[in-house]
Amino acid sequence: MLWQKETKKKGGLYVDVFELNGGHKLLNEVFRPLRSPEGSTLNKNDSTSLQNRKEGNEQFGRDNWNDAMEMYNASLRYAENGSKNISLAYANRSACFLKMKRYNECLIDVELAKEAGYPVDLMPKLDRRKEDCLKGMAEGGAPVKFEPKLDFKPDEHFPCMANVLKINRDDGGEFTVIAKEDIDVGQTVILEKAFIAYVFMLYGWKCNVCLKEHVNLMPCEKCTSAMFCSKECQGNSLHKYECGLRECNDSQMNGSIMRVVRSCLMAIDMFSTIDELINFVEHSLKSDPYQTPTVLSDAKSQYKIFMNLPLGPDSTIPQNISCIVFEVYRMLLNIPHVKAMFSSEKSRRFLMHLIGHHYYILEHNSTGALGHVSNNPMVTQSDPIFISTQVGLITRFFRHSCAPNLFVSTFHGNTVITTVRPIKKGDQLMYSHLMLMTEPTKKRQKALWDRKRIICTCSLCNGVSASTAQRKQLTSDPDFQYIVSYFDTTLQNDQTVCKTMADKCKQFLQKYGRILWCEELGKVVQAYIYLINIQYRGLIKIGSILHID
Ligand SMILES: [Zn+2]
Ligand SMILES: [Zn+2]
Ligand SMILES: [Zn+2]
Repeated sequence: MLWQKETKKKGGLYVDVFELNGGHKLLNEVFRPLRSPEGSTLNKNDSTSLQNRKEGNEQFGRDNWNDAMEMYNASLRYAENGSKNISLAYANRSACFLKMKRYNECLIDVELAKEAGYPVDLMPKLDRRKEDCLKGMAEGGAPVKFEPKLDFKPDEHFPCMANVLKINRDDGGEFTVIAKEDIDVGQTVILEKAFIAYVFMLYGWKCNVCLKEHVNLMPCEKCTSAMFCSKECQGNSLHKYECGLRECNDSQMNGSIMRVVRSCLMAIDMFSTIDELINFVEHSLKSDPYQTPTVLSDAKSQYKIFMNLPLGPDSTIPQNISCIVFEVYRMLLNIPHVKAMFSSEKSRRFLMHLIGHHYYILEHNSTGALGHVSNNPMVTQSDPIFISTQVGLITRFFRHSCAPNLFVSTFHGNTVITTVRPIKKGDQLMYSHLMLMTEPTKKRQKALWDRKRIICTCSLCNGVSASTAQRKQLTSDPDFQYIVSYFDTTLQNDQTVCKTMADKCKQFLQKYGRILWCEELGKVVQAYIYLINIQYRGLIKIGSILHID
């Protein structure tokens, strides 16, 4: 019933989603007040800030730099405005950066501490840290900071895409991406900034707006659940409106609702009037979803693609979803300028459906940084939880294959796509939408249908595999043995081992990557994907949460 109208007549209103599911009054009774008093900094609390700093010091004493940093960030978030806790937390965090040999960040934190009024009597300590940092810098030996970048020039119209790729439509009218020339293994062909992102938990880990991780984050002055990587992200209007809004204390539920709020605010911000927004959305929904876009660089063309992302297998609005839509609706209308814009019944009915539409898109198209609550870093069987989620647009154009030649990862709020097999000019570029390459065919196909409505026709699904002779050739290669037997070692996240392993995988895949998919090839591709992932993200453990993404 999404986008259903009351009458077929021109100008008819969209159906009232809430009346159909118990009514506004009933829903209103279910929900509690949601916003702390206007301008309130109630959650800021110097003693909580101090407590967090103390815990940070304990972690620091145990050489757990990541955990210590997380606590210092919490200390920053809870510190009352103008309190000396701010400068002390920055100063302590600079010590973490120094230990991690991240000298640039260390220097920035030293300055932030000074700007925040670091106590004069302690200043010699901070100055010594700065000297140590400069000395460390001069000596070199800082770990190489990994930053993915496109391995080719960017496409003229799709700046996030390498210019060796082309978006096409296949015979069935669906999108497909084709190589314009031969592409080697291990090449980054997509680097796309997320269209929409949201931090679910561990607010001191990533920038609230762009998801940059473990940089010189600065706290929001008003709330305790946001940090920013830069003045630019701090000034971003998205958080300004949401600041202080919180649906519930369950981070997963709160995140999945708040990201809908954020996405709607983003859409509303793009247009000067509501009629413009309505016209744009109605026009986007009526247009052919498989029309190849001509540009992808401005907000409106991106929003059009966003609105045409798949909604998932089930896009009716059942009772529980209507509660979520109601909650988002209520939150949005609590924001004065939004309330003023959506003053007519027509626009409010539209908003209900817009929220529902955004909700399904976000549920169905988000990828996230996943964590596992576990006390043992090697155990990852527990249910994954979201630390943050993001939606990119470009993956939309790539087809699925259970025998992929690409791997999709996220890095600091970007979508990164890397080749994992050699690609010839004219080949389709595909990735495994559910990463189920090693699952048995029946199980894989069922999951693909249930979750993505995909009927796959790849070689693996068609039961065609590499020949016995080819498979034997793979297993008799000494590198195959090396990769398979050493694979477990990489779990220790040893940089040198990872690098050697990744190089071995790459060479192996350059040699054999073009044969038909078989179990042996799958093993090496999986190992390679795992190693790329470690390179992108590291295997970071914070407290009881293991982050593996
Ligand atoms: Zn940022
Ligand atoms: Zn805030
Ligand atoms: Zn398949």
